[in-house]
Amino acid sequence: MPRGIDALGDLHGRRVLVRVDFNVPLRDGAVGDDTRVRAALPTIRDLRDRGARVILCSHLGRPKGRVVPADSLRPLATHLAGLLSAPVSFCPASTGAAAAAAVATLRDGDVLLLENLRFDPGEEANAPAFAAALAANADVYVNDAFGAAHRAHASTEGVAHLLPAAAGHLLLREVTTLQALLDAPARPFVAIVGGAKVTDKIGVIDRLCEVADTILIGGAMAYTFALANGGRVGASLHEDAAGQATARRAQARAHEHGADLILPVDSVAADAFAADAATQVVATDAIPDGWLGLDIGPQAAERFATIVRGAATVLWNGPMGVFELAPFAAGTRAVAEAVAACSGTTVVGGGDSVAALTQLGLAGRVTHVSTGGGASLELLEGRELPGVAAIPDA
Ligand code: ADP
Ligand code: MG
Repeated sequence: MPRGIDALGDLHGRRVLVRVDFNVPLRDGAVGDDTRVRAALPTIRDLRDRGARVILCSHLGRPKGRVVPADSLRPLATHLAGLLSAPVSFCPASTGAAAAAAVATLRDGDVLLLENLRFDPGEEANAPAFAAALAANADVYVNDAFGAAHRAHASTEGVAHLLPAAAGHLLLREVTTLQALLDAPARPFVAIVGGAKVTDKIGVIDRLCEVADTILIGGAMAYTFALANGGRVGASLHEDAAGQATARRAQARAHEHGADLILPVDSVAADAFAADAATQVVATDAIPDGWLGLDIGPQAAERFATIVRGAATVLWNGPMGVFELAPFAAGTRAVAEAVAACSGTTVVGGGDSVAALTQLGLAGRVTHVSTGGGASLELLEGRELPGVAAIPDA
């Protein structure tokens, strides 16, 4: 485990550079879903209370090393000030003389937000000069950006080697919670994996075959499994022969480790990818020509929900169907409600699954909602995250 900010000791008057993940949706200059901003508050508040001079930095969008005004972090300073009920100053640069001047005005407990790191090509390139320029204005570095921890960028990796470094409360909680699923899950451990493609999530499925008791497969990836087993999936989204071979290997691996890998017995099929399409419930391995499976069916939803409710540990990643369209949201809703009703440890990761859970108003009813889609998948695959590896161990 990386060391946390509790280990940093006295921070009075110290300039603390904090990498946060403020990569949130912006609309006409207003912040949309601010879950990620709220998730960083415990660290920001702790540092302020300890008298630190807090310098926040983040990326937003994909400006690719150029200044893109629509990707400015300025609206986040206003938004954060509201959440903190305290002023947050903004610097329209992340390094250089302007940043140095802005940092020099900070008093103990003040908060400054720097401009989008990705306006500089040195950020994503993990350029030593850019990391050094970031470090030049600070005494201590804290990483609280779990959503970016799987990237070796200047603000997540390079700078950690140049200053005394520690993990913020969010980063530590994410890593501890997800790692505990792999190391010592209470049993039965049920994993639900859905979403679009098997190949995106095969690393996680492989690892789950080793540690989970049951793996429930939903979403479009179910059709790649069904095809791999000789079924007919009509016009459902599915992968080619290589994806199907991957699915067969996953099944063999589950069998080898004594894990149950369960496919949805039925599906809601539609004659078009549209909310007003005609629908019918069919066997997942016998979808008529021209029809698309867009959700798990009622029998599968009932079975999945029963298994989830009886679990001691649940990990959910990936929706069960095209939940964005109301007629195909029932499977995802059934699973979300079962996860919320489960009395064990429940962890939900993946941008779309978290969005579905939030839409249903159930995000507060699970043990842990991960703020990092890609990062949570890589951690669960057993890969080392560069942003975590760069911080000294506790
Ligand atoms: P997450 O972000 O939770 O990891 P993914 O990005 O892997 O999830 O997948 C989510 C997407 O998969 C959603 O946009 C959803 O509409 C789509 N999806 C789920 N089931 C199907 C299906 N049967 N056919 C087509 N798309 C699907
Ligand atoms: Mg997604």
